[in-house]
Parts: sequence; C-alpha cells; structure tokens
Amino acid sequence: MKKETFITKDKLTEIIKEIPTPFHLYDEKGIRENFRAIKRAFAWNKGFKEYFAVKATPNPFLLDILKSEGCGADCSSYTELILSKAVGLSGEDIMFSSNDTPVEEFVLANDLGAIINLDDITHIDFLEKAIGKIPETISCRFNPGGLFKISNDIMDNPGDSKYGMTTEQLYEAFTILKEKGAKEFGIHAFLASNTVTNEYYPMLARILFELAVDLAKKTGVHIKFINLSGGIGIPYKPDQEPNDIHIIGDGVRRVYEEVLENAGMGDVSIYTELGRFVMGPYGCLVTTAIHEKHIYKEYIGVDACAVNLMRPAMYGAYHHITVAGKENEPEDHKYDITGSLCENNDKFAIDRMLPKIEMGDILIIHDTGAHGFSMGYNYNGKLRSAEVLLKQDGGFELIRRAETPKDYFATFDCFEIKERLV
Ligand SMILES: *Cc1c(COP(=O)(O)O)cnc(C)c1O
Repeated sequence: MKKETFITKDKLTEIIKEIPTPFHLYDEKGIRENFRAIKRAFAWNKGFKEYFAVKATPNPFLLDILKSEGCGADCSSYTELILSKAVGLSGEDIMFSSNDTPVEEFVLANDLGAIINLDDITHIDFLEKAIGKIPETISCRFNPGGLFKISNDIMDNPGDSKYGMTTEQLYEAFTILKEKGAKEFGIHAFLASNTVTNEYYPMLARILFELAVDLAKKTGVHIKFINLSGGIGIPYKPDQEPNDIHIIGDGVRRVYEEVLENAGMGDVSIYTELGRFVMGPYGCLVTTAIHEKHIYKEYIGVDACAVNLMRPAMYGAYHHITVAGKENEPEDHKYDITGSLCENNDKFAIDRMLPKIEMGDILIIHDTGAHGFSMGYNYNGKLRSAEVLLKQDGGFELIRRAETPKDYFATFDCFEIKERLV
C-alpha cells in the first residue's frame, strides 16, 4: 500500500515560515477519528475504557484531545502522573502500570486515586508501607513465561521479560490482597509489542479470560476489569497490512462471550492501554535536507537527528520517508538519510530509494506520533525539537517549543558557571 502523508507541501511551507524545522507534527483530525474507531470497536463492552500510554507521546495538548474523546491515561512514572493530573484526569481515569516503582510514585498515584497495577508480588508489602493501606481496587500484571506464539510465529518472549508475576504468584497475590481488604480486581498483561496482526488481542484475551475465570473460582475475588494493555501495532512499512480495529474488537468480543459470559462473568470491563496504535500514524517528523555528500555512498544530511527520533538508531526500525512535493516523482536515487550525531547509527534510512533530493527539500518521516519525540535525548548536546499540532480546522499551533541551549544548561543553574553558559 502507498503510504500517504496527512500534510501537503503548501501547508508545510506555511508552517515552516513560523516554526523552523525540525519539528514533530500531529494530526488532530486523524487522532480523533482513530480514537472514535477504537471506541466503536469495543462498544459491545459496557465498561470499556482506553487508557492512552502517556509514555508514547507525553504532551498535555494531545492528552487533552484524547481526554475530550473519553480517553484515560496509562502512566508509568511520576511526571506522567503529573501530566495526567494537569489535564484534569484523576481517579479511575488513570491507570498506573509501572515497574521497579519508587515509593513516591506509588504515593502520588494513590493521592490521585489512580488504579494501581502491581508488577510484582513483593509490591504488595511495598505499596502497603508506602501508602499505609491496600486500595479497594487493585490490579496485578501477569507474565505467563515461555514464548508467546501466534500459529508458529514467535511474537515475543515473556519468559525473558522483567514484567509481571508468574501464574502461581498471581493466585497468591490475589489471595493476599483479598485478605488485606481489596474488593475489586484487575488483571493486566502485555505480551507482545507492535503486533501487526488482528489475532494478538483475541489470543491474549483468551489467555487472560480463562485465567480470570479460574482465579475468580479459586480465590473468590471479584474481577472488575481485564486490561489488554498495549501492543497493537501499526504498519511502518508500505507492504504491511494494517490492523483492523473492528476485526480485533470483534475477535475479543467472541472470546469474551465464549469464556467470560459462559462463566457468568459478563460484567467484566475491558481496558486497553494503547499508545502506538492511538498516536503513531498521526505524527511525523518534518526535517530539511541541509547537506549532500558523495563518498562511497550517497548521503543526505538533514537538520533532525536521532535525538529527535531514536527508533531507527536503536532498533533499526523502518520509518517511511516522503519528500514533500515529490510524492509522484520516480524513486530512482538510493540514499542514506543521516542526522548529525557523532554516531554512525544516526541514520533515518539506509539504502532507501527516493526521488532526487535537492538541498532545502522538506522530508517527512512517517509514523513518529508514538515513541518518537518521547524517546528523545540530548546526546552530542543536541536539543529536542518543537511539537506542532495540525488542527481540525486546518490551522496549526505550537504545542511545545524547541529546546534552547538555556534549557540544556538549566541543571547548572545553581552553580556559578551558569553566568558563562549563555
Ligand atoms: C509501553 C506500554 C504501553 C503502550 O504500548 P504500545 O506498544 O505503544 O501500545 C501500554 N502499557 C504499558 C504497561 C506499557 O509499558
């Protein structure tokens, strides 16, 4: 499938007059439409709620858009909790799914009334010490171990992952939590990341639903929700078939009826914590070609670098690239598209066939709406970019300014050297 952009060259030129590249651009219309599709796909479940994984795109303006559509927040850290609070989320609109959790994070999560999802059985005592009680509603994260397969494809390796409790521990944890006064229980699991198949959620659902039925029977707890967490992926590559959220929702519904309803547990709410699927395709990194270099290979140097988008350098991840205004020109030039870090892995694309690129051309790097800006860092003293929102009415708005050297040096502000760092 041809990968389309949500922005035209004319519009980009207009934005760049005010906001220089590089920046991440987000598509409000796409975000809202996609979110509504997710809600429709799970509308069969009365208690359904999506908790957006804040770590994917921690921007309050974007969280606010999602909140207006009825979305909650899935937080994993102190600052993510603060962000969620800042947009007016609290109580059961926040899920706190953390691991290796510091005391103060449990304290803040509890102060906000968030649903706490325990990553480990030892966290029961740790939490009780931290907040002086066990909350009435509590969730536990499950790790089934082994390999997670769909048909014969290995999707991921839970047995090798640091998250969650073993099956045995989960039964024990529920029993202890019940004794300590917990009344409503949740089960959570995240077994595979970026799955581009409609089968992942229904398969995960079956594992968790069957477990829930047995847990309820053996421990006598009331299961209020099952959290299918994140993991629904997006087609980064043009040849990938996108997930169909309606097929996924329907697949989960069928397993729900078969397993939960048949066991008299038709009141269980389904929660999700999608990050990538909610936001990934509705963001792009906009960057300008500033250098061309002809050595043993052909290089195009752009004004963004891996600190603005780490996935290609870190995972060798593919991100599609469109040269703005050259959508229909032949892709007859082979380039490495590089950033300026003193790291040879700072390449947004390697041996990529693209139209001939001139200096000043604008490159659109696709699918950076989730785990894009948020994975940014400051290596080489490089600064984080701005974030811009393309609004539904066609206008645009700066929703985070670019960092300046002052921001980079801000943590020296209590030292005398600060006078010279200007
Ligand atoms: C990262 C994460 C998510 C979101 O994952 P996506 O792949 O972006 O959907 C959800 N829940 C937890 C606990 C996570 O760590």
